Amino acid sequence: MNIHEYQAKGLLKEFGAPVSRGIAVFSADEAEKAARELGGPLWVVKSQIHAGGRGKGRFKELGEDSAGGVRLSRSVEEVVANAREMLGATLVTKQTGQAGKQVNRLYIEDGSDIDRELYLSLLVDRTVGRVAFVASTEGGMDIETVAAETPEKILTLPIDPDGGVTEADAGRLAESLKLSGPARDEMTELAGTLYKAFTEKDMSLLEINPLIVTDDGHIRVLDAKVSFDNNALFRHPEIVELRDETEEDEKEIEASKYDLAYIALDGTIGCMVNGAGLAMATMDIIKLYGEEPANFLDVGGGASKEKVTAAFKIITADPSVKGILVNIFGGIMRCDTIAEGVVAAVREVGLKVPLVVRLEGTKVAEGKKILNESGLDVTSADDLDDAAQKIVNAVKGAR
Ligand code: GDP
Ligand code: MG
Repeated sequence: MNIHEYQAKGLLKEFGAPVSRGIAVFSADEAEKAARELGGPLWVVKSQIHAGGRGKGRFKELGEDSAGGVRLSRSVEEVVANAREMLGATLVTKQTGQAGKQVNRLYIEDGSDIDRELYLSLLVDRTVGRVAFVASTEGGMDIETVAAETPEKILTLPIDPDGGVTEADAGRLAESLKLSGPARDEMTELAGTLYKAFTEKDMSLLEINPLIVTDDGHIRVLDAKVSFDNNALFRHPEIVELRDETEEDEKEIEASKYDLAYIALDGTIGCMVNGAGLAMATMDIIKLYGEEPANFLDVGGGASKEKVTAAFKIITADPSVKGILVNIFGGIMRCDTIAEGVVAAVREVGLKVPLVVRLEGTKVAEGKKILNESGLDVTSADDLDDAAQKIVNAVKGAR
């Protein structure tokens, strides 16, 4: 689960991290009030969407030459004018895709005078099985670009879970970020604070880009992107409260109600598969034959007919789906349950695109019988390879 920048900063502030003063607003009137309260002389008006690259983003309604989604303002009037322009408009950034995201909230922040922009994040480094810091002097830009072009400018520092962040760890971070004076000591404290926040709140990513050194030599968290481990959310009702469903994919919200592992993607072939490994293999083979999957979906081991029906409805409701591949290897999952779910869903919502089904394993004969007798226009396939070719050809043929 992701949260907005202002929520992430609120959380980090509770742990004691240095963040600027700021107020979240939903209207131009609120923006004016917030600007007066903060007092100036410099404000930043920041679009709150669940995507990065806002500063360099563009508003669809305002054209290519318009200002971006993060704007410095030097008077209350300018804050209000910016708020008017940004609220309700659609911000397109590198991370939103072409459709962009509507800006419904702004964060009005006390502006900082920046000397240097740094990069600092915490993530779960699976190669070493530890939480690790990633630090770079090249803040404020795409860390992916830095990693590709100047990897020597990035430090990855795994933390020993037994001891947490040591003096030595903090020293290495400060060193790599070329910090000195008070900023160096502040970094030692911040490293511990961030690590504590990350582990206590079960975050999966905490990215500060940029972490800045101010003109007067102090460090401050200027941007914050936080994701949480969904599997641990039950421990954090206070985090769940921060959820903004308007930022999430509708299909993913629907899927989460049924406890389905579903992720929306950009392709044309909807996939219903059991088991994450088989789902990945199915996506791979669709790509191998020249099409793209429209989703990842693992219906799980012991899915009920209702769950399968819900899953199939989510797939068919996606207008970019031009064909559906059901690929089931029945172990705990029974093929007849899958067949019943598919038939029930089609009875309810119809089927306008080709459907290829590959069933194998537990109750396969019963499953096939249900599909055959349903009157549905189903193409059956013998194995994964055959199934992938059939659905790809059907989608290409229809085009
Ligand atoms: P992002 O574009 O979505 O990553 O949003 P950020 O919060 O990182 O803001 C983008 C850029 O705006 C930063 O990299 C800074 O260069 C600039 N910026 C943000 N806040 C301030 C501020 O308080 N003062 C100044 N001078 N620049 C800021
Ligand atoms: Mg940023």
